[in-house]
Amino acid sequence: MMNHKQIKKTQLRKPAWLKKTLPKESEYEKVRALLSKSKLHSVCQEAKCPNIWECFSQETATFLILGDHCTRNCRFCAIAHGPSEPPDPEEPARVGEAAKGMGLSYVVVTSVTRDDLPDGGAGLFAETIKEIRKKMPNALVEVLIPDFQGNTDALQTVLDAGPNVLNHNLETVPRLYPSARPEAVYDRSLDLLKNARAHTLHIPTKSGLMLGLGESPEEVEITLKDLLGVGCSILTLGQYLQPSKEHLPVERFIPPEEFDKWREKALGMGFSEVASGPFVRSSYHAKELYQAVRP
Ligand code: SF4
Repeated sequence: MMNHKQIKKTQLRKPAWLKKTLPKESEYEKVRALLSKSKLHSVCQEAKCPNIWECFSQETATFLILGDHCTRNCRFCAIAHGPSEPPDPEEPARVGEAAKGMGLSYVVVTSVTRDDLPDGGAGLFAETIKEIRKKMPNALVEVLIPDFQGNTDALQTVLDAGPNVLNHNLETVPRLYPSARPEAVYDRSLDLLKNARAHTLHIPTKSGLMLGLGESPEEVEITLKDLLGVGCSILTLGQYLQPSKEHLPVERFIPPEEFDKWREKALGMGFSEVASGPFVRSSYHAKELYQAVRP
C-alpha cells in the first residue's frame, strides 16, 4: 500500500479538455435540498458529478442507499469510510417517492459497501427496486452493486427483484487492485457478473473502468476480454480524477480521441454498447446505453 508521501509525489496539471463549467454550487444545492428533504443521498451531488444536469435532463439520477459511510476504503473513492448506521427500512419507500417527485424515468440505485451486514444490503436493494416500481410502474431501474463478498444468495435476492440492468464495476485492472481497491478481489467481481448472467439472460450486465491510474493498454484490453468472457454487454470507460491529495494520484490524463478509440475497439471486441470519454461515469447516459441494448 502506498504511503501518503509517495501518493503526494505526482500531481499532474488538469488538461484543457477536463475543464468543464461545473453547475453553479446553487444547482447542486437545489438537488441536495430536494434529496435531504427526503433524507436521501445521491452520488450525483455527493461526488459533485459534472454531468449532473445532463443526466437530469435525461430523467436519470443515481441514489446512494445504505448510508454514506463505506466499510471499505478504496484509494480512488471520495466517499467517507468507517462505521455505518444500521440500514433504514424506510429508505426504499423514500427513494421511490423522491424518484417520482423528480420525474425520473431511469433510476440508478447504488450503495456504499456494507461488509458489516450479513447480506451486504442486498435485501434493501431488492426493496428499493420494488418501491420504485410501486411508485412508477414504467420506470427503468439499474442497480450498481458491491460484490457482496461473493455471497451468491445476496446477488440472487437483487436479481429476483428484477432490475433492468445489473451493474458492477471492476474499476481498474487486476495488477492495481492491491493499491487501488485492496478489499476487492478481481476474480470475485468477474464471478459476480458471470453468476448474474447464469441467473438470467433477461438482465444485461454492465461494468466500468477508470483509466489514468497507471494501467497499460494491454492490461485494459485483457480486462475487456475478461468482461466479455463473463457475458458483460455494456461498458463505461472514464477518466480517473483524484478526489483529494489523500487519494491515489492521476498517473495520466487520457485524451478524448484515445477514449474514442477505446470505444471503437470495445465495440469491435463485442460489447453491445459503450460510453467512453473523460467525463464518463458509471451512470452516464445510462438510459441510452440500456435502450441501445434492450430497445
Ligand atoms: S467500496 Fe465503493 S463506496 Fe466503498 S470505498 Fe470502494 S468505491 Fe467507494
